[in-house]
Amino acid sequence: MYAEIILWIGAFILGTVLGSFSGALIHRLHFDKPGFWTGRSECPECKTTLKWWNLFPLFSYAFQRGKCAYCHKKIPFIYFILELVFGVTFLLFVQKFSSSVEVIPLLIAVWGLLVLFFYDYLYFEVDLRIVIPAILLAFVWVFFKEQTYTFYLIGAAIGGGFYAIQYFISGGKWVGAGDIYFGILLGLLLGWPLLLVCLFIAYIIGVIVAIYLMAFKHYGRKSALPMGAFLMPAGIICLYNGNWWLDLYLTWSGLGQFYSF
Ligand SMILES: [Zn+2]
Repeated sequence: MYAEIILWIGAFILGTVLGSFSGALIHRLHFDKPGFWTGRSECPECKTTLKWWNLFPLFSYAFQRGKCAYCHKKIPFIYFILELVFGVTFLLFVQKFSSSVEVIPLLIAVWGLLVLFFYDYLYFEVDLRIVIPAILLAFVWVFFKEQTYTFYLIGAAIGGGFYAIQYFISGGKWVGAGDIYFGILLGLLLGWPLLLVCLFIAYIIGVIVAIYLMAFKHYGRKSALPMGAFLMPAGIICLYNGNWWLDLYLTWSGLGQFYSF
């Protein structure tokens, strides 16, 4: 029991550290800073290179009261949320999958999806330097799946195709080109038919967020919302317990008696 608790705390800390690194990575990639992979973290305002004690996930933000320790400019609260989300997600996945050999590829997949989500959410951008390696890694994982790998390739074809068709019909107005990559990636990670569950959950999350923004943040109906970004939290939910959601839907809709996946 103690060993398990230590493992879970370790997973949470690993998640927050990776979250802290990823927040800086997203910032450096977006602003095309050199050394985006190895560069030292600096304050975007005063350019001071941060010391190791400024880089404790969550704690540094809390002790510095959300401000840079050097120039006292506010650090956006989203970076605190990001580290917390990374920590909690890693904790949940390690808690559920720690006895499975898939725990490592799952954590890598979750990492990639969280980076793509926060990137798209913050900057309305899909960075090819993240999404293409993510797709290649997902391909590698799929080919370790032996009998079931065709379901994942079908998922990728349907996921990519679903967005590609919308992209070409609307001339890029309904969905962005980046959403095609998201469709392929999530199809590879989830396979058929879980990809459908993911699209469904993403749509629900998008609608809830849109309603919230319109109700409380004075967003108009024309305000942009990166709908594709919600594929990532939906994908993480499906990686965690997608079959449970699928069973729930099939039972609830009465379709379960006609289909068995
Ligand atoms: Zn500063």
